[in-house]
Amino acid sequence: MIPVSDTSVLTRTEAVERHSLLDVRTVHLDLDLTRGREVFGSTTVIRFACTTPGAATYVDVIPAALHRVVLNGRELDVTTLHKGRLPLTDLAADNELTVEADMAYSHTGEGMHRFTDPADGEDYVYTQSFLGDGPRVFASFDQPDLKARYTVSVTAPHAWTVIGNSLGDQTSPGHWEFAPTPPISSYLVSVVAGPLHSVRAEHDGIPLGLHCRRSLAAHLDADAAELLELTRQGFDHYHRVFRHRYPFDSYDQCFVPEFNAGAMENPGCVTLRDEYVFRSAVADTKREERAMVVIHEMAHMWFGDLVTMKWWDDLWLNESFAEYMAYSVTAASTRFTGAWTGFAADRKPWGYDADQRPSTHPVAPGTIEDTDQALQNFDGISYAKGAAALRQLVAWLGEETFLAGVNDYFDEHAFGNATLDDLLRALAAASGRDVHGWADRWLRTTGVDTLRMTDGRIDHTSADGALRPHQLTVAHYRRTADGTLELAERVPLDLAADGAGAPLDPAAADGAAADLTLLNDTDLSYVKVRLDPASWQTVRTSLGAVPEELARAVLWSAARDQVRDGELAPAEYLRLVADHLPGETSVHLVDAVLSFAHEFVVDSAVTPAERPAALAELARVCRTLLRRTEGEPDRTGLRLVAARGVIATAADQAQTAELRDWLAAGTVPGGPALDPDLRWQLLLRLCVLGAAGEPEIAAEFAADPSDTSEQGAARCRAALPDPAAKETAWQALFHGELSNYLAAATAKGLWQPEQAELLDELTTRYFKELGPAAARRGPALARVLTTAAFPAHAATEHTVRAAEACLADPDLTVATRRGLVDQLDTLRRAVRARALTER
Ligand SMILES: [Zn+2]
Repeated sequence: MIPVSDTSVLTRTEAVERHSLLDVRTVHLDLDLTRGREVFGSTTVIRFACTTPGAATYVDVIPAALHRVVLNGRELDVTTLHKGRLPLTDLAADNELTVEADMAYSHTGEGMHRFTDPADGEDYVYTQSFLGDGPRVFASFDQPDLKARYTVSVTAPHAWTVIGNSLGDQTSPGHWEFAPTPPISSYLVSVVAGPLHSVRAEHDGIPLGLHCRRSLAAHLDADAAELLELTRQGFDHYHRVFRHRYPFDSYDQCFVPEFNAGAMENPGCVTLRDEYVFRSAVADTKREERAMVVIHEMAHMWFGDLVTMKWWDDLWLNESFAEYMAYSVTAASTRFTGAWTGFAADRKPWGYDADQRPSTHPVAPGTIEDTDQALQNFDGISYAKGAAALRQLVAWLGEETFLAGVNDYFDEHAFGNATLDDLLRALAAASGRDVHGWADRWLRTTGVDTLRMTDGRIDHTSADGALRPHQLTVAHYRRTADGTLELAERVPLDLAADGAGAPLDPAAADGAAADLTLLNDTDLSYVKVRLDPASWQTVRTSLGAVPEELARAVLWSAARDQVRDGELAPAEYLRLVADHLPGETSVHLVDAVLSFAHEFVVDSAVTPAERPAALAELARVCRTLLRRTEGEPDRTGLRLVAARGVIATAADQAQTAELRDWLAAGTVPGGPALDPDLRWQLLLRLCVLGAAGEPEIAAEFAADPSDTSEQGAARCRAALPDPAAKETAWQALFHGELSNYLAAATAKGLWQPEQAELLDELTTRYFKELGPAAARRGPALARVLTTAAFPAHAATEHTVRAAEACLADPDLTVATRRGLVDQLDTLRRAVRARALTER
């Protein structure tokens, strides 16, 4: 990896200037993947026009070695390359630029990532050109609004398959030629290569491909029918609602190793993390998540690839649109009809959390000054809040009108670039409504509104004082004779932005008082809800009896953010979990609630003295769930989540012995059988508790020497309650060259609340060594070091002060600072929650 310090950050001003000067026409890219394991050859020929002959600019290129640069037949001095920019002077009206370089392979998922599969020793490479990493692969004018037609050729080892943005052929052994693309942005250029396993199909005239590394072939084959069906359903839906047909010549979905994001929307060559080729049993919610990713990336083919943001300040628009479409299309056109519950339970909390931190920003930021800043907005606000805001917009305009505006926007800007304002104008024209005014309220402000029921009125507040209009529903529930709850009435509510204190009749239409009044019960809006005392009392006794899954999701979400806001004691939250989770039938809810209860409440927000009892309570819940799902074949997802919970909460000797029995038997009694994921999770827990060690780790790896096992072993070794093991993990994480995935695995093993004493000294060291390590390894590793590697269990004033002192260091990179600010916010909330318990 070329250190980030040796590259430049592109500013908006520079991009505007270069856009006014250049018109890029074609790019010929020739890659040579036969130059060994360290570098690959990259020759780029760019033909472009210049509006001001004689002017100067620069081309972006981040090479390992720059061999030769020729501009209009004139050889340029390669030593003028500075921080990833090579100056170009005396441009002509029409120019041809040739750049020949060796580029370094990456192990952090940025640029051309190279991966050796431990299962069979085979090598694979793929590009990630997004946000400034394209010049690590090829020379370009790297900004979204300088689109060009790309013609790519690749030389690769003879046994390899090469996939690109367009249809390609092997024209001679090891030499691949791809058809010219329509105009696309440089950040979307993609190549995937290696001895791939491929499944090919066709739909509606579009050639389809699924690809993965060889060692996953059987698993991809097992899921190919499902993936292709989703792809077909996605195309059919989009072709029904969009006037433009799919704009590229083929659609390949490549499952690639050690991928940082969920997936990337390269036109015709989508890359997805290959954990989505399931090697172990997964709950259906995981399949639903994968379906959503597939549909999300397909939405980008239109929104993002056909019409591309002009500058990164509209990154949110790309993501929010794709995210909104993913949920709505998945719910409407695939078998995953409950997708919106997943949105409420798993996705929106990401947005709510991000939106209540000091680092929050408007969904549509006014201006993003540079690419560094843009990368930081790749967060819960751009995805979850943005999608929730669009859902509000659709609720207000109506879906048909919304799509009419979107189609006009596609028509006007196809194969070009556009801005938020272009979309708002199209929507305003289609609807005749004040869409700009709506956008000012929803997209240009920060924070979450709170709706609080008080004395039959809705008290509408927000952190920043600016209220948003809300389209939502209100449900009134009444207790029945047999103790369950029934929905007495659901009323739509159009809450104006100035409607603070709107009266709400707490009684249902027939005049009888409700036992539970729930605002936003269908989760249509993005808002925190607080119940009146009587309704909250009903929730305490009867949360599990609320008939609709989505309403229960809203209630669990309200409980969650009351804990984070210091309004509900952790012990009270755990009481709700103990009383109402064992009867829960939604895998989404069980999974989300158990995760929060374990990671935030038990591991961070209760004091060390109270933790054993809290963990034991959670263990009882998981055991009850496991018992309850015995012999129920249609509850396999729930059972899997319960089994994982039992493993993760094991603590005493009897539980440890039980885990050892499971491992020896190769199954949880009554199922599920232990697959690689469960085996490694089990071994991890035994390592944490000091009940297994190096011999067991080595044996487990030897039995299945895959990358999953490599990560499992790294996690287990870092988790051993032994100072030498901690030091080895520490050195690898902060001073080594671990790949992004192995770093994350090591970090996840390192911190264990059970080992707080052993980790005390490392908590202090963390804040000293974080900055330099993150700067050395770049933004992807900075993210690992500020998330998985953060000592979240140490929720004390002392840690808060250490984090604050670390933030005072002016040399922290942008990514490190942002990661740390966000963790500090969660840490402060945990400290506050602990104080609530102690009170
Ligand atoms: Zn996306």
